[in-house]
Amino acid sequence: MGGGVRWAATAVSVSFVLVAAVAALRLNPAHHAPEAAWIEAGADPVPRSLAALTGVGPAGALVAIDPGHGGRDPGAIAPDGTPEKHWTLLLARGLAGCLRRRGLRVALSRTADVYRSLDERARWADRIGADVLVSVHLNALPRPRGAVLEVYYAGPAPDPGRWEMPGPRRWPRFAGFASLQRRLREAWRAAASERLARHIHEALAGPRGAGLEGVRDRGVKRARFVVLRRTAVPAVLVEPTTLSDPVQAARLRDARFRAALAARLCEGIAAYLEHGRRVGSAVSE
Ligand SMILES: [Zn+2]
Repeated sequence: MGGGVRWAATAVSVSFVLVAAVAALRLNPAHHAPEAAWIEAGADPVPRSLAALTGVGPAGALVAIDPGHGGRDPGAIAPDGTPEKHWTLLLARGLAGCLRRRGLRVALSRTADVYRSLDERARWADRIGADVLVSVHLNALPRPRGAVLEVYYAGPAPDPGRWEMPGPRRWPRFAGFASLQRRLREAWRAAASERLARHIHEALAGPRGAGLEGVRDRGVKRARFVVLRRTAVPAVLVEPTTLSDPVQAARLRDARFRAALAARLCEGIAAYLEHGRRVGSAVSE
């Protein structure tokens, strides 16, 4: 084979890989306007695909926070009778404030005691063009005492179709390309979700103290929770402590303790976004 032919073949392969990579980086295929009731003021829409390609970094990122439960779904009940939905909303508000102070944009899936289905919450994160979805919960154990920390991330989504790598004879075929794009995106999302979970876990499991003494670290786990599964953005469900434990439940009544928990969550999310920015700038250099 002549050098010219080889060169042309290489150039074609390189452009295909570049087009596929750019397509995979298009973080949000649909840029619908955020629902006014669900997004807090100050979150102006930014073309996220552009942000991803230009490496806007953490300052431009939109964090979707999902306070677990709400309305007719109370979640776990503390020994003192307070429902999980109450504490998740307070923690989410604290987290939102902390993220905003760091220059991040924030939206909450609920800002009051209202019911939202898990499916709605997941799709909401897609609709507003979030960069990450963090669902905040509190653990409940069957035994009366003891507290644990757990961070879950979205496992791989169900296979949307067989792997259709376009062959040389029928390439370029758009169906094959769309499938490749979907697979690349899902692989990227799984890896990003795990990275986000590890950053959040590191921040939460860091130096004990601040009221978290005695909270056992159960680490990072993969889960197929609906709220993690039905979204296209990197998603994590975090249970920073345990509501069924009377000691931890009592501490949640202390605003300083809640602020400390929120600050750790905030630290983990910011670390993930900062890491993404560094990777982005390294690629563009
Ligand atoms: Zn819960």
